[in-house]
Amino acid sequence: MAEETTTGARAAAKAAPAGQRKRRTTAPRGRKTCAFCAEGAKAVDYKQVDVLRRYITERGQIRPRRKTTLCAKHQRRLALAIKRARFMALLPYTSEHIRIYGG
Ligand SMILES: [Zn+2]
Repeated sequence: MAEETTTGARAAAKAAPAGQRKRRTTAPRGRKTCAFCAEGAKAVDYKQVDVLRRYITERGQIRPRRKTTLCAKHQRRLALAIKRARFMALLPYTSEHIRIYGG
């Protein structure tokens, strides 16, 4: 009788599942989140200012990858294209430039 109660208690303890918590840190991905991959673009053109402008912040900073949702390859090429566009004075370096030249 005594044995039965101890085994019963053990079984109850085992039945309780160990803390299984699945937390998603990233949104569930569809097929392609990278806009450049989706349209099949190989290079990012620094002359396409309207495209590049989507990937910079109000202050003229390049958006981080978690915000742009680009793949590593295209994020690198985008960053390079933005830097080229800045050099060609197509995009601003800082918010100071936006203030003076109106973005
Ligand atoms: Zn890509």
